[in-house]
Amino acid sequence: MRRIRNAKIIATLGPSSATPAMISALFGAGADVFRLNFSHGSHAEHRQRVETIREIETRAKRPIAILADLQGPKLRVGCFAEGRIRLEAGAKFRLDLESKPGDARRAPLPHPEIFAALRPGMDLLLDDGRIRLKVEFCGPDFAETRVATGGDLSDHKGVNVPGAALPVSPLTPKDILDLDFALSLEVDWIALSFVQRPSDLVAARERIGDRPVRLLAKLEKPQAIDHLDDIVELADAVMVARGDLGVECPPEIVPVLQKRIIHACRAAGKPVVVATQMLESMIHAAAPTRAESSDVATAIYDGADAVMLSAETAAGEYPLEAVTIMDRIVAAVERDPWYRMVTDASHQAPQHTGRDAISAAARQVAHTLEAAAIVTYTSSGSTTLRAARERPEQPIVSLTACIHVARQMALVWGAHSVRQADIHDFAEMVDHAIRVARDEGFAQGGDTIVITAGVPFGHSGTTNILRVAECYG
Ligand code: PGA
Ligand code: MN
Repeated sequence: MRRIRNAKIIATLGPSSATPAMISALFGAGADVFRLNFSHGSHAEHRQRVETIREIETRAKRPIAILADLQGPKLRVGCFAEGRIRLEAGAKFRLDLESKPGDARRAPLPHPEIFAALRPGMDLLLDDGRIRLKVEFCGPDFAETRVATGGDLSDHKGVNVPGAALPVSPLTPKDILDLDFALSLEVDWIALSFVQRPSDLVAARERIGDRPVRLLAKLEKPQAIDHLDDIVELADAVMVARGDLGVECPPEIVPVLQKRIIHACRAAGKPVVVATQMLESMIHAAAPTRAESSDVATAIYDGADAVMLSAETAAGEYPLEAVTIMDRIVAAVERDPWYRMVTDASHQAPQHTGRDAISAAARQVAHTLEAAAIVTYTSSGSTTLRAARERPEQPIVSLTACIHVARQMALVWGAHSVRQADIHDFAEMVDHAIRVARDEGFAQGGDTIVITAGVPFGHSGTTNILRVAECYG
């Protein structure tokens, strides 16, 4: 089974997509990666979903990536005596460290690090930015605020402090439990939420050790953008997490940051995901708005490796329709000659390594010979990533002996991942590449394929061969 598009689709699982039949249907409709959102659901539920995905994978004989998304230091207000309150614009409202339930005049905010970062004149946003408070006075354990934008507020709603870099680790005690659990499930990617600084990634790597997972940094705080290049360097992939990003900074800045982040990732050759509200109206409607369809298309024209569905597939009424329409939008963009033109125009020069030299040459040779596919042999995945960085016209058939790498590559632009036993000599290399390209539906008798590999075979860190092969008739 092959997809007819290069960019990938990530579908978040939740109550709307919990059954094996639905997860299987989402995969069939185009989901390449499934996201487990550790902000919701029990460990037992996540375990069940992983088992289901692995069964689907075995049946379909296609590697599927699982992304475990840790909640991170999402800050929340405490609870209210009545469960909810109404905040009127212009009213005074106090936040403090006391634990007694709140009312319309004060509420508990159990985060000393917020009070430490507050200054008079700063804004506090509650409930995804729906409510705005202006800080008038504050101390180490309280803030007196004035309600700038009012509304209803209920227990445990999220709090954002735009503009403040908070001294919090991206791994809360809950995240550490969730991370250890996700590692025990052998997920393929770990997403770290609210990354603020490069050292956040180092802390997560220490916990992960040498386990075979890759780390994705979610950029949802504008402060992270100040260290964009360093974060991209330390992460294996990046997400433009527009949900929280759009609360932390004004909406008009989100598209600007989206393009800047995608550009930085494309230059570095790190996969980049555009996420949140992509087909938001499909939570309740069977078809997207024109603006949403245009948003998905823009992410693809911008060069994203993957686009993500959140509540649309996790809690919406039309999960299958959402994946189906996303698949169609991506495919339509990629059929557009303008897409190829903008992709070529933004082509990144190869870095001065053997691997990049071979990848760039493979792209060029495949173009000149009108090849059917580029076949990469990769041990660590990095040859496939460098091939994808080239954004070739041809699909990349990524061959690896490692099941973890095979699954991880499901997130990568253009990579059709296949698990394949290690090869030992040139004849085997050519033979297997042709057979897989044909079996997987990428080439027919008479077609040309371009193969990249490294000798000695089966060792990570070398890509030094480019071979043109004709598929026998
Ligand atoms: P979330 O992250 O869905 O876990 O909040 C994505 C975002 O904020 O856009
Ligand atoms: Mn978020």
